[in-house]
Amino acid sequence: MVAWTLQPLGDAYAQGRGKISLIRDAEIEALLRQYAAPIYKAAGLRRGALDILIVNDQQFNAFVSGRTLFINTGALLEAETPNEIIGVIAHEVGHIKGGHQQRLEDQLRSAKVIAGFATLLGAGVIAAGAISGNRQVSGAGSGIILGGPSIAVRGLLSYQRGEESAADRAALKYLSKSGQSARGLLTTFSRFAESLSLQGGRINPYMQSHPMPRDRIEALKVAVRKSKFADRKDKPSLQVRHDLARAKIAAYLGGRRYLNSLIRDKNFSPLAKRYGEAIGLHLFGSPRAAIPKINALIKSRPRNAYFWEMKGEILLRSGKPAAAVKPFQRAVKLDGGRSGFLRVQLGHALLRSKGKNNVKAAIVQLRQGLAKDPSLIVGHRYLAQAYQKSGNTPLALLASAEEKFWSGNIKNAKNFANRAQQKLKRGSPGWLRAQDIITFKK
Ligand SMILES: [Zn+2]
Repeated sequence: MVAWTLQPLGDAYAQGRGKISLIRDAEIEALLRQYAAPIYKAAGLRRGALDILIVNDQQFNAFVSGRTLFINTGALLEAETPNEIIGVIAHEVGHIKGGHQQRLEDQLRSAKVIAGFATLLGAGVIAAGAISGNRQVSGAGSGIILGGPSIAVRGLLSYQRGEESAADRAALKYLSKSGQSARGLLTTFSRFAESLSLQGGRINPYMQSHPMPRDRIEALKVAVRKSKFADRKDKPSLQVRHDLARAKIAAYLGGRRYLNSLIRDKNFSPLAKRYGEAIGLHLFGSPRAAIPKINALIKSRPRNAYFWEMKGEILLRSGKPAAAVKPFQRAVKLDGGRSGFLRVQLGHALLRSKGKNNVKAAIVQLRQGLAKDPSLIVGHRYLAQAYQKSGNTPLALLASAEEKFWSGNIKNAKNFANRAQQKLKRGSPGWLRAQDIITFKK
């Protein structure tokens, strides 16, 4: 799991009180894509129609912006079942299909709070809620790289009541079409309506952007009662993956106390409990004790790519990069090459291992990972280091230009791209890419 820094862009950032950092994690992203897939299908959207990004914030929130669906870690922690998150996704997709986004975007534009990196993500990033003072990941352990792309949202925006009811109706339709219960949606919204609208003295952002009057809850209750899928449960295998993701988030972001209280819950999957304990040992000071635990997990589920990934992560962070290579290779293979992030981690382990061939191999993996997912800023940083190590200064400069570019630091990116271009062969792929960055306009 990694959270990273994007250079703030524009005034909104400079003055921004609220910041959001994003989490990248192959396991959780794959799970969320799986949650969303049947909803997209029911809504007539193509598979993967929306990018999904995980926001490092302990409060419950989910919102759509342009082509991106944002889900807070807090939402995942609070949701006891996949169905609760799937319901929220269905509701958000309802907003998209209803065209409710446009009004919010107009509102935001006039409020001049659009985040600069929106254009970089090609997404038009907008937070439909006032988000402030969220907790950062500091102190959560060495496994996390700090920072975050910052979206400063100063205005308070909300959907209109009519839009909320329309999104609910759409959500009910998608859930029913995909044979899923709407009980999770009801559970989540009831929770908001009843008690948790205030968390730690702050009004929950989801509550603010989604007015939730009683009649809406009542309408949902009636719909759930009538639905033939009301009592349909999530597949047990999906529930286990949900618990594994929650255990990981709790360990990385919730701290030791939070993790312990979560995994003590009787309903929590035993596998996820062991996973949480292993990650906890790794993060809270005893990587050596974590290794046998993660080995035991791998033994019980040898085809789980993320157990291998975690083993690689533990070894890499405890100063054993060469030993981390094999586990990451297994993770990449089991994942079927879907996640660029896993390849970047493999490339990182190779880069830190001694030996000239390892640097070459690192470059191959990093390039493949970045081709899949160019927004992986850390990947560009490692690639720059790998090229530097292998004596290829022009491409090292270009990789640094990419790192700055995807961090939103365009001025510096152009600087590096210029320096790279002077050393690159005119018309070569690297030269052309440098040209793209040099001529990039926000
Ligand atoms: Zn809504």
